[in-house]
Amino acid sequence: MGLSLFSDASTRLAQALKFVAISDDAIEHLKHPKASLSVSIPVRMDNGSLRFFQGYRVRYDDTRGPTKGGVRYHPGVNLDEVQSLAFWMTFKCAALNLPYGGGKGGITVNPKELSRLELERLSRGYIDAIADFIGPDVDILAPDMYTNQMIMGWMMDQYSIIKRQISPAVVTGKPITMGGSVGRESATAMGAFFVIERMMSKLDRHPSNTTVAVQGFGNAGATIAALMAKAGYKVVAVSDSQGGIYAKKGLDIPSIRQYKHSSRSIQAVYCAGTVCSVVEHEVITNEQLLALDVDILIPAALENQITATNAPQIQAKYIFEVANGPITSEADGILDQKGIMVFPDILINAGGVTVSYFEWVQNRSGLYWTLEEVNRRLQEKMVTEADHIWTISQDRSTSLRTAAYIHALNRLGEAIEAKGTRDYYANKRF
Ligand code: NAD
Repeated sequence: MGLSLFSDASTRLAQALKFVAISDDAIEHLKHPKASLSVSIPVRMDNGSLRFFQGYRVRYDDTRGPTKGGVRYHPGVNLDEVQSLAFWMTFKCAALNLPYGGGKGGITVNPKELSRLELERLSRGYIDAIADFIGPDVDILAPDMYTNQMIMGWMMDQYSIIKRQISPAVVTGKPITMGGSVGRESATAMGAFFVIERMMSKLDRHPSNTTVAVQGFGNAGATIAALMAKAGYKVVAVSDSQGGIYAKKGLDIPSIRQYKHSSRSIQAVYCAGTVCSVVEHEVITNEQLLALDVDILIPAALENQITATNAPQIQAKYIFEVANGPITSEADGILDQKGIMVFPDILINAGGVTVSYFEWVQNRSGLYWTLEEVNRRLQEKMVTEADHIWTISQDRSTSLRTAAYIHALNRLGEAIEAKGTRDYYANKRF
C-alpha cells in the first residue's frame, strides 16, 4: 500500500529540513496540525428525505496569522486529504509571505448529484456546523475544487446571519457584489501564468515553439489554457474528468471553453458566434495526456496524478503544478532523474490565495481596487517569490520544490522561534 497523502506530503518537509537551521521545537511544531474538526451535516433533500454529509475543517498552523484555505466538494474528500491540503497551505502562505497560516475544508459529496437548492442547504449547513471554528481573524474560507463564487456567497451570508453582523472577510472568492475582489476568479491561473512567463524567459524559451498540455478544464485549468494560448503557446491537449482531446497543430481554447460552458463536455471545436463545429482531433485518456511529448505539462485537476507507475512515461520538459499535490514524492525522484524540471504547487498555484489575501484586505479597509491594481500586485508578489525560490534552488543545487519549502521554512521557523522555543530562550539575551 502507498503512503497516505499526509505522510507523502510530510516527506517534502523532511527533505527541506536538511537545508534549514531551525530548532527541534519548531520542527516538532510543524509536524502536527493545530486543530481538526469533523462534522455531520444534515440536509433536507428536495424529495423530503433527510441525508447526512461528512464535512471537515483543519487549521494546520497559525503562527504567521489566521489560517486560510479553500473548501472542496468531492466524493473523495477525507480527513487525510484535508489535512494534507491544510499543510500545503501553511507552506504556500509562508512562501508567498502572506500574513496567514494554513487551513482547508471539505465535504464528502458529489455536487453534480445535488440540485442547486440542495447545494445551498448543504453549504449553509456546513457553516452552521463550523461557525465557531472559523472567523475573519481565525480561519478564512475560499473556493477549491467544485466550489465557486456562488457557494462562497452563501457561506459568507450564513456566517453573517449566525454572528448577526456582516462579515465579508470570513470568506474570499465571493461574488463581487458581496465584497469579492475583481480578478479573484482568474487569480490562480493568472499567478501561474506570471511565473511560467518569468521562468520561460530565464530558460530562454519562446511561446511560439513551446507546446503545452493541460489536465483539468475547470476554473484553474481552463483559464491557464486560455492565458497560454493567448500569449502564443501552442496548447495541443486538454482534458476533464471524462477524458481529453489532442490536436498536433493546437486547439482553439476560447471555442472549447464556450462549448464546455454550454454542453458541460469537452470537444475540439471551432466556434463562430453560437455555432461550434468539430475540428480534427484525437480523443485521448487522462493517462495519455500526461505522457504526451510536449514541452510544458500542466496538471490542474486532482492530486496523485503522476506516481511511480506513470512517471517513467512522462516526456514533458517542464511541469507546472497548478493542482495541489499532483505528483507523489516517489514520482518526484523519477522525474528528477529524467531531468524534468518541476515547478511546485506551493508556488505555482499561490495566485489564488494571494488575491484572496487582497480581497480580505479590501474587505477590512472598505476600499476596493481596480483589476489593474490587483494584477499588478499579484505579478509583483509571484515574480518576487519565484525569483527567490529559483535562486535558492541554484545556490543549494536542490529541486525547485525543496527550494520552495526551504524558503517557506525559513519564514515559519523564524516566526515559531519568535513565539518562544527552548533554543530561543537559551540563545537570546535582552
Ligand atoms: P474545478 O472544480 O473548477 O475544476 C476541476 C477540473 O478537474 C474539472 O475540469 C474536472 O472535470 C477535472 N477533473 C476532475 N477529476 C479529474 C480527473 N480524474 N482527471 C482529469 N480531470 C479531472 O477546480 P479548480 O478550482 O480548477 O481546481 C483544480 C486544482 O487546482 C485543484 O487541485 C485545486 O486544489 C487547485 N487550486 C485551485 C485554486 C482555485 O483558486 N480555484 C487555487 C489553488 C489551487
